[in-house]
Amino acid sequence: MPKVSLLRDQIAGGSLPSVCFICGREAWDLRFSDLAAWRPGVRALPGSPIASLLSFWGHILKSSRSGEESPGGLPFCKRHRSYWVRRAWFIIGGWVFLVASMAISILLTTMMKPDQRPHWTFIVAICWLLFFLPAFLVVHLASTRAIASDLESITLAGASRGFVSAFKEQEGRA
Ligand SMILES: [Zn+2]
Repeated sequence: MPKVSLLRDQIAGGSLPSVCFICGREAWDLRFSDLAAWRPGVRALPGSPIASLLSFWGHILKSSRSGEESPGGLPFCKRHRSYWVRRAWFIIGGWVFLVASMAISILLTTMMKPDQRPHWTFIVAICWLLFFLPAFLVVHLASTRAIASDLESITLAGASRGFVSAFKEQEGRA
């Protein structure tokens, strides 16, 4: 999976080549200009790897709902317009459901008499845990995604070869 580092200014300014970031076909849309402002990690939880990888997907969801008036962003073809949004819903929604179903089952079980079996919501929560944790890792690792950032640039993994070569060509001309 090719990695590519893009300047925050290039993402915000919409100056990237019109080649789909995911598949390398002709791109029609620029999306997620807010990605230019992305920083991994949550200040309250330094070094927590889950928090930092969730911060990318959370940022995508927030950015997809904010109306996208700015002209910049990364290029996507028609087919891949919603590529990040669908994955972000699965990952963020899955975590929210996991935490909520665990909390509800613990609450319901502590409210029951001690000789009763755990509440059935526990079975739901455990089944979701067993399905979701591996599925989440597979989806996350197989996705094109931002993996690092510094003050000026953002590094993404899994960019299409077509995009990377068009980008290098453009950089070479500049
Ligand atoms: Zn595409």
